[in-house]
Amino acid sequence: MALNKGLKMTEQRRVIAQVLSESQDHPDANAVYQRATKIDSRISLATVYRTVRLFEEAQVLERHDFGHGRARYEEVAEEHHDHLIDVHSGKVVEFQNEEIERLQRKVAEELGYRLVDHRLELYAVPLNEEADS
Ligand SMILES: [Zn+2]
Repeated sequence: MALNKGLKMTEQRRVIAQVLSESQDHPDANAVYQRATKIDSRISLATVYRTVRLFEEAQVLERHDFGHGRARYEEVAEEHHDHLIDVHSGKVVEFQNEEIERLQRKVAEELGYRLVDHRLELYAVPLNEEADS
């Protein structure tokens, strides 16, 4: 697991790393805390905050701001992906689109740059819910 990389792992850190590794839903700190305390009830929310900051600094954890003012986390992925956020449910959908990747490189080049990184977030509502309202 990438989260073990080069960090001194206390027992509680190990539990938090495990929770983050197993989460596919980009949890916020509170959700990480809820899941971690199911494994070890002594873990505090402060420890979760401290630990995610540590993982972030070690660049094994990525922080996202998908709105609502709360940071959400995911383990740094080997393969790049972008996110679509369902603004009704808060659900996060991961996607890859070669055409978008290509376009972004092209835009950067036209501005005289070589693209080295990007973040793309799409905020959307489900089509079937729109039909209902
Ligand atoms: Zn993701």
